[in-house]
Amino acid sequence: MEIKNRKSFKELFDAAKRSTTTYPAPISVPVKIVNDHSPVVELVNRIVEEALVQNASDIHVEPGTIAGRLRYRIDGKLETVYDEIPMELYSNVISRIKIMCQLNIAENRLPQDGRFSYENIDKEIDVRVSIVPLINGEKAVLRLLNRAGVFMDIDSLDFSVENKAKFLGLCQEASGAVIIAGPVNSGKTTTLYGALHYLNNPAKNIVTIEDPVEYQLQGINQVQVNTKIKLDFEDILKAVLRQDYDVLAIGEVRSDEVSRMLVKSSLTGHLVFATIHTSSAAKVIYRLLDMGIKPFLLAIALKGIVAQRLVPRLCPHCCEAYDVLPESQLARRMGADYEPGLWLYRRRGCEKCKGRGIKGRVAIQEVLMIDSELQQCISSRPPIGQLEEAIKNAAMKTMWEDGIEKAKEGLVEIQEVARVCSE
Ligand SMILES: [Zn+2]
Repeated sequence: MEIKNRKSFKELFDAAKRSTTTYPAPISVPVKIVNDHSPVVELVNRIVEEALVQNASDIHVEPGTIAGRLRYRIDGKLETVYDEIPMELYSNVISRIKIMCQLNIAENRLPQDGRFSYENIDKEIDVRVSIVPLINGEKAVLRLLNRAGVFMDIDSLDFSVENKAKFLGLCQEASGAVIIAGPVNSGKTTTLYGALHYLNNPAKNIVTIEDPVEYQLQGINQVQVNTKIKLDFEDILKAVLRQDYDVLAIGEVRSDEVSRMLVKSSLTGHLVFATIHTSSAAKVIYRLLDMGIKPFLLAIALKGIVAQRLVPRLCPHCCEAYDVLPESQLARRMGADYEPGLWLYRRRGCEKCKGRGIKGRVAIQEVLMIDSELQQCISSRPPIGQLEEAIKNAAMKTMWEDGIEKAKEGLVEIQEVARVCSE
C-alpha cells in the first residue's frame, strides 16, 4: 500500500500543535516549582534542598502538641533535624506541600497523596508525598526519588562478580519468571529497575505495573495501581496482557490471582520480573506454592530468584581494621569463612561522614538459578528442609556468605550483616 502526499510525523505533530483544539491536561502532571520568595515557600524549598544535601531518602514533617518536628531518613535511619516548628505555622507548611502536589488544601481530615518535581541548579528529582491526618494535625512524608538513573546501572547494584554474571544471565532469558525478594526497604525496586534499565531498548515493549511508581523511566511503560478508582493489579494485568509486551514487571505480588497471571504470562513466551515480600530464595518458592501455583508449573516457569538486604556502608575515609581473634564468638559464627589472622572493619566517624562512620548502604544478595535438579525438586513440592538442602547443593552463595565477602573488603560491618540476615 502506498500513502499519497506523505507528510512526516514531525509535520503532522507540528500542525496539531498549531491547531486550536485543546484537550484538558491530565491532572497527574507534576508541577515544576517556580521561584517564589514568600517565607513559607522558601522554608519548604529549604527542607527539600537540605534533604538532598544530606542524601536523605524521606522527609517526615510531623505535628506535635507544643511544636512540630522535622526528620530525615538517612541511610535507613530517621534523624531529627529540627523539633521546634511553631504549631501556628505548621498548617501553612502542610498547605504549601499540598499546593506543590496540587492536592486539596481544604481537606484535612482524609489521607491524600500526590507528587511533584523539584528542580534546583544541578538536580531534578521527583518527590512522592503522602499526607495522613493524626490526632493533632496532618503528617506529611515526602519520598525523594532520584531520577538521574545513574544508580540503576547494574554495576551500581553491589553484585559480586559471580552474582552479577548470574543476574545478567537471568535478564537475557527469552521467557520465564525472575523474582526479587526481600522485606520492606531492602532495595528490591532498585534491583528491579536495574534489570529494566539493562533491558531497555526501542525494540522491546517493556511494561511495569507498580503501586506506586517509584521512579519514572524513559522508554518504559509504567502503569500505576489506583485503588481510588478501583484500578487494581488484577485489572491492569488483564489489560496489559493484550498490549503486545515483551517484558513485564510486577511491582509486588500480593494476591493469588496476580501470582497465577505471573506464571501464565512467563509460560507464554514472556520475561516477567516481580518483587515479593519474603526473606529468602527458598521462601519465595513456598510463598508462590501457597498462593495456589501448581508445583510443576512453577518449576518450569521460574528461572531465578534474587533475595537481598541493605546494610550500612562503612565510610571509606575513617573505618578502622581490627583483628578477629580465633576464640571469639564472631570467629565461631563465621565457621569455615574464618581463618586466623583475619582483619575486619568497623566504623569510627570523621568530618566526611558527619561523625556517623557510615555513608549510604550496600546491598547483600543471594542469586539462585533454577537448574534441572531444582526444577525436579520444586515439582515434587518438598518440605522446606528438603528444598533448602537442594538449594545448598545448587552452589549458591547465601546472603550471609555474600555479606562476609563484603565485610572482608571493608564495605560493611560483619555485625550489621549478621543482624539483617537473622531478621
Ligand atoms: Zn568517615
